[in-house]
Amino acid sequence: MATPETRVTEDERLPMLLGFQRVSENMAASTSFIDRGKGVYVYDTDGREYIEATSSFYVAALGYQHDELIDAIEAQYRELPFYVSALHRTSKTSLDLAEKLRDILPVTDPHILFAVSGSEANDYMIKMLHFQAVARGTPERRTIIGRHDSYAGGTLASASLTGGHHEEFGLPLPGFLHCAQPDYHGGREPQETAAEYSSRLAVELNAIIEGEPEGSVAAFFAEPASFSAGLMVPPAEYFPAMTAVLRQHDVSFVADEVVTGFGRTGNLFGCETLDLKPDHCVAAKGITSGYFPLSVLALGPSLYADLESGSEQAGTLAHAATFAAHPVGAAAALKTIEIIERDNLVDHAARMGAHLAKRLSTFADHPLVGDVRSLGLAGAVDFLRRDDNDVPVNDNAGAIANAVYEKVLEAGVVVRPTARGILIAPPLIIKADEIDEICDRLFRALDAVMDNEVRSQ
Ligand code: PLP
Repeated sequence: MATPETRVTEDERLPMLLGFQRVSENMAASTSFIDRGKGVYVYDTDGREYIEATSSFYVAALGYQHDELIDAIEAQYRELPFYVSALHRTSKTSLDLAEKLRDILPVTDPHILFAVSGSEANDYMIKMLHFQAVARGTPERRTIIGRHDSYAGGTLASASLTGGHHEEFGLPLPGFLHCAQPDYHGGREPQETAAEYSSRLAVELNAIIEGEPEGSVAAFFAEPASFSAGLMVPPAEYFPAMTAVLRQHDVSFVADEVVTGFGRTGNLFGCETLDLKPDHCVAAKGITSGYFPLSVLALGPSLYADLESGSEQAGTLAHAATFAAHPVGAAAALKTIEIIERDNLVDHAARMGAHLAKRLSTFADHPLVGDVRSLGLAGAVDFLRRDDNDVPVNDNAGAIANAVYEKVLEAGVVVRPTARGILIAPPLIIKADEIDEICDRLFRALDAVMDNEVRSQ
């Protein structure tokens, strides 16, 4: 891979760290430098074209070079490029966005708090729940439950909420617990039904809560379907069973819509697709299609009431973030949402998702494939296989996933490798022939990896 015009030579380490890779492999030679995008395509400095079949980490909902969105952002830059939201002053555009979000986010009668990233949104939500507990005179109610294998962010609190990669950072912080991911394909006992599996997970959640001092658990955070864990679409019985336990113990349910929000799952929000009624939620990524960093917390009425009364006691809500509610981000979000609604992109994405699901379902017979899952405009191919007795048979699913990722990347398609498979979640604007192209190249990549497997045996 040629290095662009830069002082770093090919065999040198980059002067910057990139995410989710070994630091020692941070070499110019093994890095793609992307310098252009259009529609669902991105181009590197060698001029190579890739279909961005993950929307660049589930962000670029409207694809690249969306002129109308760029124009709206430029207009905001010319009018008011920045204003802070604190001390009784904010920007009009930030307020407009708060009003819009209040109408559409999947929380009843919410108040909106802005942040910059999904990590911060989760972090601030935990902070506000702690403030609530103090305001109510029950400061001991501060334990947060996340789920194994879910990603929740990179700050100390959101990395603690994340369900993995704790040890190397000396995490989690005190007050974070984790329950099982609803991974029916990988986690079920042989012949266990989806209903039995779901109630087992709810029993486990109940045991975790009851294992803690009474009244000490504040909230449970979950994505409607975890993309980071490998598109874990839960069985229909899962959330009803889990939320019954939460209600019984007066534990709040926070929906993490960072990935599933803004049209990804066949509805505007994953909570609609899975019929969830969270107390609070967070969203980010697709909200601006990635054209500006912005995230949002929707605080339900009881939390908001406690913030009001708590700030009376404390004299203030001593929380702000300079770049939260950034007017340019607000303009980007307002225009992104306007385009999604006006162009019926949620319906379009659902139709394209049905096409993707149909194409991926044919992969189920491939000898490397153990499971295929779909949700809205997202699909996953899982390389963990089960035998005729429903017992998992292979422990090389992760290695296959990486090999397929590399192969299909060579063929010009960026997919997301996960612990046991690969994931596809293209921009909402994708067309059917582009989905066909992704699937054709992916199928050829599977065959090539299969050939290598056979040859190496
Ligand atoms: N929550 C979920 C479900 C995510 O997948 C991510 C990031 O991928 C985050 C939170 C953190 O968002 P960010 O990377 O914007 O901080």
